[in-house]
Amino acid sequence: MQNLLHNLNPEQLAAVTLPSQSALILAGAGSGKTRVLTTRIAWLIQTGQVSPSGILAVTFTNKASKEMMARLSAMLPINTRGMWIGTFHGLCNRLLRAHYRDAGLPQTFQILDSQDQLSMIKRMLKTLNVDDEKYPPKNVMYFINGAKDQGLRAQAVEAYDDYNRKLVELYDIYDGQCQREGVVDFAELLLRSYELLSRNQPLREHYQARFRHVLVDEFQDTNDLQYKWLKLMSGQGRENGAAVFAVGDDDQSIYAFRGANVGNMGAFEREFAVQNLIKLEQNYRSHGHILDSANTLIANNSKRLGKNLRTDAGHGEPVRIYEASSDLQEAQWIIEESKSLIAEGAARNEIAVLYRSNAQSRVIEHALFSAGIPYHVYGGQRYFQRAEVKHAIAYLQLMDNPHNDSAFLRVVNFPTRGIGARALEQLQDAAQQHRISLYAAVPYVAGKAGSTLNGFVRLIEGARFESQHLPLAEMVQVVLDASTLLTHYQNEKEGADRIENLEQLVSAATLFVSEEGFGRDAPAFLGPKAQAAGSAIVSGDGIEIVDADAPLATVMSPLSAFLSHASLEAGDNQAQAGQDALQLMTVHASKGLEFDAVFITGLEEGLFPHENSALAEGGVEEERRLMYVAITRARQRLYMCFAQTRMLHGQTRYHLRSRFFDELPEAALKWLSPKIAHHWSAAQKSAWDDVPEAGANHNKVARQIGHKDIGWRIGESVAHQKFGEGVIVDIEGGGGNARAHINFGRHGMKLLDLGVAKLEKL
Ligand code: ATP
Ligand code: MG
Repeated sequence: MQNLLHNLNPEQLAAVTLPSQSALILAGAGSGKTRVLTTRIAWLIQTGQVSPSGILAVTFTNKASKEMMARLSAMLPINTRGMWIGTFHGLCNRLLRAHYRDAGLPQTFQILDSQDQLSMIKRMLKTLNVDDEKYPPKNVMYFINGAKDQGLRAQAVEAYDDYNRKLVELYDIYDGQCQREGVVDFAELLLRSYELLSRNQPLREHYQARFRHVLVDEFQDTNDLQYKWLKLMSGQGRENGAAVFAVGDDDQSIYAFRGANVGNMGAFEREFAVQNLIKLEQNYRSHGHILDSANTLIANNSKRLGKNLRTDAGHGEPVRIYEASSDLQEAQWIIEESKSLIAEGAARNEIAVLYRSNAQSRVIEHALFSAGIPYHVYGGQRYFQRAEVKHAIAYLQLMDNPHNDSAFLRVVNFPTRGIGARALEQLQDAAQQHRISLYAAVPYVAGKAGSTLNGFVRLIEGARFESQHLPLAEMVQVVLDASTLLTHYQNEKEGADRIENLEQLVSAATLFVSEEGFGRDAPAFLGPKAQAAGSAIVSGDGIEIVDADAPLATVMSPLSAFLSHASLEAGDNQAQAGQDALQLMTVHASKGLEFDAVFITGLEEGLFPHENSALAEGGVEEERRLMYVAITRARQRLYMCFAQTRMLHGQTRYHLRSRFFDELPEAALKWLSPKIAHHWSAAQKSAWDDVPEAGANHNKVARQIGHKDIGWRIGESVAHQKFGEGVIVDIEGGGGNARAHINFGRHGMKLLDLGVAKLEKL
């Protein structure tokens, strides 16, 4: 038996081996919270206090849960595959799959990613003739998700004026539409499973009896509904409730804008009668100067639970600060410093460039690209969100659940098969009239339109029939052929990349099947009847409860499971396993990660802290926590930079350097350029007041003309017939002569005449 405990310090050891009661581990960045949580799971199992099936562990990202399982398998001779370790979304999906009927969902319900959710809302507003200037689709979406995150259905939302009443009404209609289509959005996964457990007593008791230990990482970023979900799952307040082990850092609470409530930590302490509050103060990640900077900075926040960090690692290098004259020069400096780090032997994927807003990455990307340094941007377009992959997925979705209107509309006429706007209009009218899905409405459309639509239905049915007994990967192959997607892209001159991506879907399916245990010797997908007879438990009230130990393979078909994986993965904005490339990401996306060297860029008033924070209550404190997260990602080297001028949305902005510099300990810093006192000039002030959002544009001419004149802006995503998808990184010239530098990824950088090139906005 391995000694799991030998490399823990005394506080960590105490935390890992706490008795089975609820506990809160409150500790700063890099103090080993995640390590303690993982080790505790291993220790509980190894000492026979709980079986792997009695553990419920929640991580913040899919990647983190995979890592946790990998560590556990390394520590213990167990198969972690069936364990309930995942994100809130992943765990809820699993619960709903096992109990879809009790949850009022079709067995093949599908998950809408945010992109699909938004387009569904747009369609709904159009059908209802709602003015989308008055009710912008995004706002409607935020409203709906916000309500769900608080655990509120439309009926329970209090509308205080007409505008609000309309939003509530839209929320209700939206929910009805989702139900008809058999789709659930991300927030719904949570709300639906919460409602399922609170309504269904036998089911609730079953899980409460099963999970003896509930462990939650990054607890500071749970929202109200997640907290309520945890209470329910763990049987809080019951005599025999589970022991909940929460680890978190109030100083790293950075998702308030998404409904996270750091107050949950205090509530947890009270409501779970926490007797064991352990603080970890030894930091194992960062060198001294880096840690001092983090500590001194965060001490400026007033609302803190109070803790500190120390390290034995020695001071290390000072934090290097650079003042650039422009955003271009800032990018250049990052390149130079990275080059020398690499020359000193640093691995490229151990260098991270962090920024507050996504738009800032363009200039840096441009510079890296020109310098020939490989880089990887996280939170950019992910595999499952690429147009061609989404198309193929839509075909698969229709085979699994034909009532998913988003999927239907995406591919009904792609590749083109002569189904025009008029036919779709007729179809939509019929669907609305009968309150059914588009697919179901096809028989109601007469004439030529009806027969072309029918052809599409036959295509889907045919592919379904042909592939019904095939393994997942072959099923994907059938779809690629039957849909004619492959032929379509083959005929496209430069469709090679897309074909490659599509073919990758076959390998993705193969890998998924083996990773998730859908392989040959896995138990077959039983279907509801067999489940009831076989591995299901029937409660005293006659309610069927699928054995919670049942592997995923018995509660969902490989296809359903693969499709959920694609949607959940698409929603995960986190970094993936390193390639040999510089890592670019927002500060938000860097949470929980660590790198040898970190650049924090754009440290200017208005950008970081972000200007929106001035308006929100506690906004600046949240920005400071974000800065704390950024600083504490670094192990050995930390660089900070800012620029005197920056192009934002076609205008030059003159920035003051961030107030955060004045909150750092002078002794830890090394200014590479003179520290000049900044003063506002009247002109600077007005330039700064005008422009709300971050964007990056560094061309002199474009600066004068502004983006409106030419209809394009830097940072915009576009599609070109030959080169595929790309991003405008620079614009030069104006009016009819404007030309754009566009980064087409694999096809490289192209300079195209905007008047001539046929570009599509994405
Ligand atoms: P964050 O707040 O950023 O999520 P964390 O508190 O979860 O950080 P971990 O990621 O668990 O911290 O640990 C930080 C680093 O310190 C990791 O590389 C981890 O392996 C290492 N570490 C933790 N505890 C020890 C220890 N006792 N001895 C040596 N290294 C340790
Ligand atoms: Mg952690």
